[in-house]
Amino acid sequence: MTTAVASRELNALDRCDRCGAQAYVRVVLESSGGELLFCGHHARTVEPTLKPLASEWHDETSRLREKKPVLVED
Ligand SMILES: [Zn+2]
Repeated sequence: MTTAVASRELNALDRCDRCGAQAYVRVVLESSGGELLFCGHHARTVEPTLKPLASEWHDETSRLREKKPVLVED
């Protein structure tokens, strides 16, 4: 049984599995299909070991640098 989770965006309810902070990276493990969530800090910590094992590495840490609403004015 497969579940379509591929394009789900992370939100404030998603929490880092390590520290409970808001998660900005979602990792799907290739072997088990299990999903792991990490904050920006822990994503960097686990990236060297986990990334080769991941079938998906969904990184939204760029949003951390865009906290302020972008005002587009002409
Ligand atoms: Zn964390």
